[in-house]
Amino acid sequence: MEVKVIEAYRVQHSHHRLPTKGGIRYAENVDQHEVMALATLMSYKCAIVHVPFGGAKGGVKINPRDYTEEELERITRRYTYELVRRNFIGPSIDVPAPDYGTGGREMAWIYDTYRTLRENEIDAAGCVTGKPVALYGIQGRTEATGRGVFYGLREACSDVQDMKKVGMQTGLGGKTMIIQGMGNVGSYTGTISQQEGDVKVVGVGEYEGSIYLESGIDIEKLLEIRKDSGSILNYPGATVIPQADRNKILEMPCDILVPAALENQITSENADRIQAKIIGEAANGPISSAAEEILLKKGILIVPDVFLNAGGVTVSYFEWLKNLSHMRFGRMEKRFNQTSQERMLHVIEELTGRKIDPEVLRKVARGADEVDLVRSGLEETMSRSYQFIHEFQRKHNIDMRTAAFAYAIKLIGDDYTSLGIFP
Ligand code: GLU
Repeated sequence: MEVKVIEAYRVQHSHHRLPTKGGIRYAENVDQHEVMALATLMSYKCAIVHVPFGGAKGGVKINPRDYTEEELERITRRYTYELVRRNFIGPSIDVPAPDYGTGGREMAWIYDTYRTLRENEIDAAGCVTGKPVALYGIQGRTEATGRGVFYGLREACSDVQDMKKVGMQTGLGGKTMIIQGMGNVGSYTGTISQQEGDVKVVGVGEYEGSIYLESGIDIEKLLEIRKDSGSILNYPGATVIPQADRNKILEMPCDILVPAALENQITSENADRIQAKIIGEAANGPISSAAEEILLKKGILIVPDVFLNAGGVTVSYFEWLKNLSHMRFGRMEKRFNQTSQERMLHVIEELTGRKIDPEVLRKVARGADEVDLVRSGLEETMSRSYQFIHEFQRKHNIDMRTAAFAYAIKLIGDDYTSLGIFP
C-alpha cells in the first residue's frame, strides 16, 4: 500500500457577512497565497453583485487527471471531514462551490459527507452549492458563470462612448472572440455568446494546444469533437498551434479576448503583443498587474473578473436560498401566472371576436420555471451591477477594475456604517 499526503486549504477572508462563500479548486499550483488571494477576491465579488456573503476559497493541491474517480472521492470526502472537524463548513458558516478542476460530482460528495456527519441538520443541503440538480442543486447553476460573462460583455459593449474609445460599433453581435480554456466557464461563454449574442468565436486555447479559424468555430461542434477524439486540435480547417506554443492564441487578432482558465496568463512578457480591443476576465486574475498597466496604455478595455465572472456565485446564492426554503423556485406562482395570462388572452379574444392560435396561446401564457427565474435573476444582477460600476467609473474617470473595487469597498463600508462600526 502506498500512502500519500495531500496538501489542502480553506481560507475565509472576511466575516463581515456570513456565511462565507467561494469555490474549491483542484490544481497542482495551489498554495496558501493563491487561496488567500482568491478568497479576498470573493469578498469583493460578492459585494459587487449584491450577494450577502463574505469571501472564502478552498484549494487541494492535486492534478485531478492523476487520480482515479475512487481516489478523488476519498480525497474529497476526507477534505470535507477536515472542514467539518474545524467548523469550517455549514449553511450558516462557510459554503463551498465548484471552481477550477471541480464540479457537481465533487459537490455531491461534499454534501453527502456533511449530511452523514451532521445527521439532524435540517438545512444540511445549504452547506455547499453547485450540487447536481437531482441532489438539491438548482437549474441553471452549471452554465451560470459563462452566462454571466455573456451578459456582462453585452453590457460592456452597449456603451457608445466606451466602444468609440476602442474603435468599435456598439453591440456584441458580429464581434470576434478568442477563448482560452474550454472548461465549464469557457465552453458556456462560447456557446451562449454564439447562440444568443451572435458572436463569432475565431480562436480557442486548451491544454493540448490551440486552434484559430477566421471563418468561425462552432463551439458545440468543437466540444463534441473533443469528447470523441480527445482533442480540440481535430477541428476541421482550423490552424493548429501546438501545445508548447498554445498561449500564442492570446496574441491572435480578435475583438474580445476571454481568458477562462487560470491566473497570470497575460503578463509583462506577452501584454504588448495582445491584439484584442476588449479583454473579458472570465477566469480569476488572468492579467498580472504589470501587464494591466501595459494593456491600459494600449487603450484596451478590461472587463474585470470581480464583476464579469460573478454569475457563478450569484446563482450559488439562489441555490442556497432554495436549500434554506426547501422549495424549488416557481412552485407557488407558476400555475397562477399561467392561468391569469390565459384569462387575459381569452378576454382579448372576446373583445376582438378573433381566435388566438392555440400554439401562440401556449407560448404567451406561460408561468416561469425555475430555470427562467434563475436566468432572469442573473441577467438583472449582471446588468444592474454593471450600471453601478460604470457610473462610478464615469464619475471618477478611472478604469473598470478600480471602479469595481471602489464600488465594492463602498458597499462593504456601508454595511459597517449601518452597524455603527465606522461612524
Ligand atoms: N468558484 C466560483 C468563483 O470563483 C464560484 C463560487 C461560488 O459559487 O461560491 O466565483
